[in-house]
Amino acid sequence: MSIVIDKEALKQKYREERDKRLRPDGNAQYIRIENQLSHYLDDPYVPVKQREPKKDHVTVAFIGGGYAGLVTGARLVEQGVTDVRILEKGGDFGGTWYWNRYPGAMCDTASFVYMPLLEETGHMPSEKYAHAPEILEHCQRIGNKYNLYDNALFHTQVKELFWDEAESLWHIRTDRGDDFTAQFVGMGTGPLHVPKLPGVPGIEDFKGHSFHTSRWDYDYTGGDERGAPLEKLADKRVALIGTGATAVQCIPALAESCKEFFICQRTPSSVDVRANKPTDPEWFKEIATPGWQQRWLENFTQNQTGGMADEDLVQDGWTDLSRRIRSKIAALPPEDQGNPLKMLAAYEDSDFEKMEEIRHRIDETVQDKETAEKLKAWYRQLCKRPCFHDEYLLAFNQPSTRLVDTDGKGVERITEKGVVVGGVEYEVDCIIYGTGFEVGTKLADRAGFDVVGRDGIKLSEYWENGMRTKHGINIHNFPNAFMVQPTQGANLISNIPHNIIESGMTIAMMVKHALDNGCKTIEVSKEAEDAWVDLLMTGPGMMLGSPDCTPGYYNNEGAPIPDSAKYNVGYPAGATAYFKYIKEWRETGDFEGIEFA
Ligand code: NDP
Repeated sequence: MSIVIDKEALKQKYREERDKRLRPDGNAQYIRIENQLSHYLDDPYVPVKQREPKKDHVTVAFIGGGYAGLVTGARLVEQGVTDVRILEKGGDFGGTWYWNRYPGAMCDTASFVYMPLLEETGHMPSEKYAHAPEILEHCQRIGNKYNLYDNALFHTQVKELFWDEAESLWHIRTDRGDDFTAQFVGMGTGPLHVPKLPGVPGIEDFKGHSFHTSRWDYDYTGGDERGAPLEKLADKRVALIGTGATAVQCIPALAESCKEFFICQRTPSSVDVRANKPTDPEWFKEIATPGWQQRWLENFTQNQTGGMADEDLVQDGWTDLSRRIRSKIAALPPEDQGNPLKMLAAYEDSDFEKMEEIRHRIDETVQDKETAEKLKAWYRQLCKRPCFHDEYLLAFNQPSTRLVDTDGKGVERITEKGVVVGGVEYEVDCIIYGTGFEVGTKLADRAGFDVVGRDGIKLSEYWENGMRTKHGINIHNFPNAFMVQPTQGANLISNIPHNIIESGMTIAMMVKHALDNGCKTIEVSKEAEDAWVDLLMTGPGMMLGSPDCTPGYYNNEGAPIPDSAKYNVGYPAGATAYFKYIKEWRETGDFEGIEFA
């Protein structure tokens, strides 16, 4: 497709659209769900079971029963460490996939690299992009295969976690009265797990029904997470607030079901082609030779992060983006190759092209021209979470469905009867909040506990001026504690499970080494931690979060990014290099920089 691009006009348009959305309150525009709003957090899926509080001791406690806990638990079991207790605030394993059961929920990253331990569990994903129920079942499959259910505590939130220097162990107290100890503790509480509501005046006044997308109320809507029609909405007027990655996925089902459906948009998402397809079992048999998933993971990471790979196994929107940037850079004249400014300009050109294609797709799909215009995203693709969907735009052709664009200002007010946008009240029976999750709030607030290490040092204080770890896993002053998350490791955002898989293996091998050698503690030395952080600071810095972008959680809602955030980076040589490095580091058995005592 040949698209003529006026770059200066586009840049001007991007600036205007961003400026419209800048607001002084940044993250403070959202309200915490508590007190009279706390019913928004109730678990609609699994009833809470009564149980006796635990007062015992385990070898490893892991906080968080999503991918991080499951994969680390599995790797520990593989290493012979079977006394693992996972604590989880949901009623089962799954984390994100436990809570997010909204209609149409699916994964944006190809299942062959997104679903961990496929080879170990012998599971063939049924589609290129698996739907949420299959991912949740896979979490349960991992839990069953590695016997992680036996010792798990569900519907349990940690309230206190502190290090006992005399005994060399951690004390864990929970909201269920548990008070037990663990030699080692892992933490994989995830970045996006506390739902948030917009601080729109009148939110408590609404007299109709309302819920957040991460607590979908199928009793009210009818249907189910497997795609059964939401038949109870046939006589209902519904407003959905938000048009982020979640909304994009649930809008098609709502558009088909509601009597009247109002989609309140502040900033459009960029929605590219999805092209999902069922997995051909014959094809899968051919590719699933020993070691296949590791090969796919490495290939995806290499393609996605700009490395030269012989082939692109996954072939999705993420690798397409990187391939385009690479080919633009490769097309530069020889004298400009390696010139950072020219390379950035080539990247910008490929972004303009991609976004023009995405906007063009809207014109081709959405019948109403005014609606089509309002659905266009005017920012660079990675300013906000890129979305991929084939039915989203078509939903706006449904007669029941109406885009209520707020021109970047957001919903003005909520009344007893509905939502107000631009001075117009839209009366509805139900409001669904697709307004996302807390980001940028304090880690201890999101997790519900602080980590208290040696000499009473709190993690929140230790990290006050920025995160400090080795590999994003070990923290000085916090012996026998491990984080499972991407930052300060590979920091591969397009496929979080790859980070988790490597961290899980690294932790399991450290724990096994300590147990085999009768060591009571594992701790990164101050020097090794400092050296790692110094190394991180030699890298290119944060890739996301530009102030030129339209506000959102990637850039602190447009507010200045605090200096401490400069530490939220990955290995300077990139994700592929990190994964190679960390494998070698753990397999030497020296665990350089870590003290075992
Ligand atoms: P987001 O934070 O991405 O989106 C929230 C939406 O609510 C935005 O459209 C936001 O607008 C809008 N909003 C907030 N306040 C108001 C207001 N006052 N009036 C009107 N609109 C408002 O949350 P999501 O749940 O959509 O997604 C969160 C993350 O979860 C994603 O970024 C992604 O990382 C992940 N995800 C992943 C999926 C996958 O397939 N792997 C699928 C779904 C989610 P604005 O943009 O202007 O702030």
